[in-house]
Amino acid sequence: MAIVQPATTKAGSELADPLAGAATGVAGAPDPTAARFLHLLETVRANRPADDLEIIRKAWEFSLEHHRGQLRASGEPYVIHPLEVAQVLAEMKMDSTAIAAGLLHDAVEDTPVTSADIATMFGEQVAHIVEGVTKIDKIQFANREDRQAENVRKMLLAMVTDVRVVLIKLADRLHNMRTLEHLKPERQQAIARETLEIYAPLAHRLGMGKLRGELEDLAFRYVDPVAYEQLSRQVEEMRAEGEAFLRRVVSQLEERLQQHGIQGQVQWRIKRLYSLHQKMQDQHLTIDQIYDLLAIRVITQSVQDCYAVFGLIHSMWRPVPGRIKDFIAMPRPNFYQSLHTTVIAGGGHQFEVQIRTEEMHRVAEEGIAAHWKYKADDAISARDEQRLAWVRQLVEWQREMTDPNEFLSTLKIDLYPEEVYTFTPKGKVVVLPKDASPVDFAYSIHTEVGNTTTGAKVNGRMVQLRTRLRNGDIVEILTQTGHTPSRDWLSFTKSSRARNKIKHWLNEHQRERAMELGRKLIEREARKYKLSLNKFQEADFVRVAGEYGMGTQAELLAGVGFGKYSARQVLNKLEPGSTMAVTPEQEAASEHHGAVGAMSDAVKRVFFGKGSDSLQVEGQDDLLVYRARCCNPIRGEEIIGYVTRGKGVAVHARSCPNVQNLLYESDRRISVEWASPPEGSTAKPARYPVRLIVYCDDRTGMLKELTAIISDDDTNIRSVDSKPNPDGNGAIVDFVIETLDVRHLNRLVTAMRRVPGVRDVQRMQKV
Ligand code: MN
Repeated sequence: MAIVQPATTKAGSELADPLAGAATGVAGAPDPTAARFLHLLETVRANRPADDLEIIRKAWEFSLEHHRGQLRASGEPYVIHPLEVAQVLAEMKMDSTAIAAGLLHDAVEDTPVTSADIATMFGEQVAHIVEGVTKIDKIQFANREDRQAENVRKMLLAMVTDVRVVLIKLADRLHNMRTLEHLKPERQQAIARETLEIYAPLAHRLGMGKLRGELEDLAFRYVDPVAYEQLSRQVEEMRAEGEAFLRRVVSQLEERLQQHGIQGQVQWRIKRLYSLHQKMQDQHLTIDQIYDLLAIRVITQSVQDCYAVFGLIHSMWRPVPGRIKDFIAMPRPNFYQSLHTTVIAGGGHQFEVQIRTEEMHRVAEEGIAAHWKYKADDAISARDEQRLAWVRQLVEWQREMTDPNEFLSTLKIDLYPEEVYTFTPKGKVVVLPKDASPVDFAYSIHTEVGNTTTGAKVNGRMVQLRTRLRNGDIVEILTQTGHTPSRDWLSFTKSSRARNKIKHWLNEHQRERAMELGRKLIEREARKYKLSLNKFQEADFVRVAGEYGMGTQAELLAGVGFGKYSARQVLNKLEPGSTMAVTPEQEAASEHHGAVGAMSDAVKRVFFGKGSDSLQVEGQDDLLVYRARCCNPIRGEEIIGYVTRGKGVAVHARSCPNVQNLLYESDRRISVEWASPPEGSTAKPARYPVRLIVYCDDRTGMLKELTAIISDDDTNIRSVDSKPNPDGNGAIVDFVIETLDVRHLNRLVTAMRRVPGVRDVQRMQKV
């Protein structure tokens, strides 16, 4: 009997079903992932009937073979991940090259396979894409943040020559976000935050509205679980009514369109949670003040019809003044086009209407990925070319930046393309990011103007330097020779140019002082050990600098000045053994620099010792590390260390508003993470005081129920204070409780929220 070997069937063969053989694994045995792969092939065939499935099949078999035995955190076979990434790409209607690269995207990073292997098997194009999404080797980096920044930079570089690199990275991130529940809370927060800070804005910048929305909502629940739960509850409460209302509106409009012979598809939506959250936060609004919470969308056949529908809608419902926007005539920087208006229906319900053509809709949802829907070639449209122009500029710019984090913060600024148009007194236009200040304006004229700015006039009147500029403002900058930039400027400047220039100036001047201090510390330490520094050349210092992963003597001295490395250790590296013979007096006199030096560049683990508030760096008992008072991080939160002058290392929550301003001095930042208690330790885990504010109805028994929840969880209450809400509505209860970690805190907050009459529970960062 003839046995057909489906796996070797050529996709081009006329008789063979191109999907045949998919349900069989490489070895011919049934494979639990086979059904999913079949689904992938079906999606590709439906979306791109002309595409060659052979390369996809080959990539799948390759991936199966090389990821064999690997598991994901969820316990599933690892290969499910590249498969699901490929599925996302197929649903984006990407070509088979991209889908094959998607199947292979982790092969180089996580298996012994090399880029050259991929090139031999699948061609240069696929290899280039896979190389672009492959992370840089871990050991090359001082800390997690630098690594993250370098990986993003690498991806953007690769994306300039092939956009599919970023599309695969986004698909990869989407699947990782969808399966984030399996990771530890700290990893969850870090990945979710990175998604909100980089990947979702990147998707937005590339016009991929749908993907951006999903990434944001997935990340929101991990970054701010309390706000997420509260908001989703609020939305759920109004959902039934909102949907019924929208359905009525839609059918009224459909009827009217028909009467006027306009072809159009009417859809409706309730605003996505994260964009709702952002709007409420930015503008301090409550949910019922959000005018576009409910929206309908009309998708028409032509631009002409868009304007016709626009008129029709205003004849049916009253428009809200100031809310009419024509993004068809003036597209957004990411090429989004649509007409927007907000109208009021009977009963006072407001809703937004968006009107656009099918093509505009496709661009709004899929952005740069829309390009692949109909075209199989690699030629890129003029619009997509423009989308990439800013990446090119950024990549060009990055050559000047030595600090990867500087690159990252520039990227973050550039991901938000909203602009404001201002003028010089002579009428020259100066385009600045939204909310830019006169200082941004000054730096855009000239660095020297920026550095010596003392004041500004807007429209002829003196203003503060932190004033936010508006469209049409005429700005005049006052300067004074010898005046210098202030660190404070970083708290309100918005343009990457101004911020880079200010940081550059500050770094230069800070570094000079730190180098001076470092030199003195080393000299003092050398005297103590009766060591003559004269016998060392600059080359000796460069060698030691190299041992710390730096390139120059200056960097080494600055590092000592900032307290990152100890003078004693540097001496010991200059001449091994030179600082070993130490009397107890000398030891006592050597301050704590030895500890700091030994930290070198690795990630520092911190934990609380024996229930007290003192933090320690693992193995470095004498290094003073403390929780920053501004944010009081608790175990399980993402944290970051900052070397202060003379006070040790301050540990901040990554979400602390001060962190953004502190971090620009990358020399002084160190990575820290929570450590588990030492093995065999019987010490009870430390508890941290956290302040919770409960907004609730003023009813009998409320306080008792709340305190019962806390004490039932074996949690100590340090203080409690209850008073009527000053706005005359309900009561406010102010608790300081002792929590174990984020999980514990979230559990308590969730339980308190379930108490009838509790409207909101908020954590205050200050205790
Ligand atoms: Mn991956």
